[in-house]
Order: sequence, then C-alpha cells, then structure tokens
Amino acid sequence: MDPQKALVIFSGGQDSTTCLGWAKNRYPQVEALSIDYGQKHRVELTQAAKIARRLGVAHHVLEAEFFGRMVKSALTHPGDVGGAHQDHPGLPASFVPNRNAFFLTLAHAWAQTAGAGVLVMGVSQTDYSGYPDCREEFITAMGRALNLGAEVDIVMEAPLLHLTKAQTFALAQKEGVLAEVLELSHTCYNGVETMNPWGRGCGDCPACGLRRKGWEEYTAAL
Ligand SMILES: [Zn+2]
Repeated sequence: MDPQKALVIFSGGQDSTTCLGWAKNRYPQVEALSIDYGQKHRVELTQAAKIARRLGVAHHVLEAEFFGRMVKSALTHPGDVGGAHQDHPGLPASFVPNRNAFFLTLAHAWAQTAGAGVLVMGVSQTDYSGYPDCREEFITAMGRALNLGAEVDIVMEAPLLHLTKAQTFALAQKEGVLAEVLELSHTCYNGVETMNPWGRGCGDCPACGLRRKGWEEYTAAL
C-alpha cells in the first residue's frame, strides 16, 4: 500500500467534499469512491461526479442498490426523514443500519486493489446526525478489524471527526473547496436542489438544518 495514495469515501455532500479538498492538499495521489446504495437522494451521486471532475480526481461509483432494499431507513424507503427510526426508537429515521460498516468494508477492499495506504472519510461526532457509526470508537474499531482481516495497515483518516459544522465550513475555505461545497455539494435528504446561501437543499430536512445552522455560525464568526 502506498502511504502517498489516499482513497476518499465520497458521497458528494458537504463533509466528503471538504475531505476531498483536505486529501488533495496532503497526498500526491487521490481517488474518490462513491457508493450507490439506492439512496432516494441519489442526485448526490451526480453532484459527486461533477465535484470530482472539477477537482481533477478520478471518481469511481460502486453499484450496491441491494443494500438499500435490504435495510430499513427513510433514506431508502418512503417515510418522513424527520422522525424516529422504526426499529431503533433512539435513532433518527434517516439512520441506515450498518451503512458505514458496509462502506468501510467496500472502500478498504478497493484501497487494497488500488494500492492506497490511506482511507479518508467525512464522519463527524460533533454536530452529527445522531448516527452511532459516525463515532470515533466505531471507526477505530472497524479500521483495526479490517486491517487485521487482510494483514494490511491502511491508515484511517477522519479529519472532521471533532469539528462542528461551522468548523467544517472553515476547513473547506482553508482547503480551497468552499466554492465546490456551496455550489455543487449535495446533502439534502429530500434531494431538493434549490440554491441557498449555505448551499443546495430544501432547508427543512435534518441534513439541511445542520448545514444551515453551521453556515450561520461560520459567517457570524467571520
Ligand atoms: Zn433538505
């Protein structure tokens, strides 16, 4: 595995776009991997391709629609994204069981194929959506398990892990990708592409709410 080559798990949202800029400024070789899991807001994949093209990064899309059919989530089946999850009352309806475990497993295998020694993901446990698989303990454990299972030592990087959404906007600015975040990145659970000062989205879903609040905090501190 090449420690100078990074693979970014890339949804096309604010966080992974920021991570793509972060990785480009640190590693000579960067590739992006998106996963089509049958998400209702699959416009994010179209936006992911546009962002990767603009940043000059090779972009791969893995087809995994079976995953979305298999799990219960308001992101893959009809339902209100704002309520509680039907099987996990303490978690939001948008929680997708085992999504990050699945993504990390696929990306870790891809990294081995591509010879990438670094795996970058945009998870955050600070201003996060309440997903337990975005916490540091889980990411560290998964990374260790995957490396043990393949006898490799791929480094897991999660540069947003302890950042608020406002700090993530600041990082995007520092890494030179704030324009891509605002003009192109897509986070809205409803797949709405309306342009706002804080970026694209409906303004009402939980993802848009976090993003708008982060933008307001970021701009207030400028
Ligand atoms: Zn929205």
